[in-house]
Amino acid sequence: MLYSDHHVHTKFSPDSQADVVEYILKAKELGLEYIVFTDHMEFGVKSPKFQRYIDYDYYIRYMKELEEEYEIPIKIGVEIGYERNYKEKIEEFLNKYDFHIIIASIHYDVGGESFYSGNFYKNRSKYETYLAYFELVLDMVENFNNYHVVGHLDYIPRYSPYEDKHYNYDDYREILDLILKAIIGNKRGLEVNTSGLRTDLKVSFPREEVLNRYRELGGKYLSVGSDAHFNKDFMAHVDEAAERLRQMGFILIG
Ligand SMILES: [Zn+2]
Ligand SMILES: [Zn+2]
Repeated sequence: MLYSDHHVHTKFSPDSQADVVEYILKAKELGLEYIVFTDHMEFGVKSPKFQRYIDYDYYIRYMKELEEEYEIPIKIGVEIGYERNYKEKIEEFLNKYDFHIIIASIHYDVGGESFYSGNFYKNRSKYETYLAYFELVLDMVENFNNYHVVGHLDYIPRYSPYEDKHYNYDDYREILDLILKAIIGNKRGLEVNTSGLRTDLKVSFPREEVLNRYRELGGKYLSVGSDAHFNKDFMAHVDEAAERLRQMGFILIG
């Protein structure tokens, strides 16, 4: 049985037009046991585009109908965009619904500044911007526990404007250790996000060194997801990654 993609966006996410039924048909064709959707829910974001919220009562009803029509279990997950000033609102939202998987991600600086725009990188060196991003992740995992996996832990190179986007693991070893220890201490997991394999970076997030260190520190739980925003990217590299990670001794959530 193939491992189901655990990071999938649909047209319900503000940055995706992907068709829900097309995903379902693909999942059936591949013989997946079930399909998971993890649309965006962002709090405290400046961009008006991301201030469009899903009506989950409607969303759940809609998915239930499709589940019956297409005869494949549909599991509802969410990718929550964490912002520390909105922690209470986030908790309130998450406690209202029973999500199959909650992916906790950092997409914005405190105050809602996006990593996609240049402002985050202004007046900072590459080292400083990457460190600033990791500090946001550390703040999240030390103060928030209402999730299953941390999304794309080291994906900041994906949007950074530098010619050499990669980072040197040893330069961030200390803060990465703190992040991993907090996740493990809270019995939470990491996501292996295969979207980087579709870019010039040619790595998953987090990259291999981080996963090895996670295992060394006692980390066990992982999910695997493509972070598809287009139908064509559904399941991309997911099954091969899942197989390899199982062989490495990890336990896959799902
Ligand atoms: Zn994300
Ligand atoms: Zn995503």
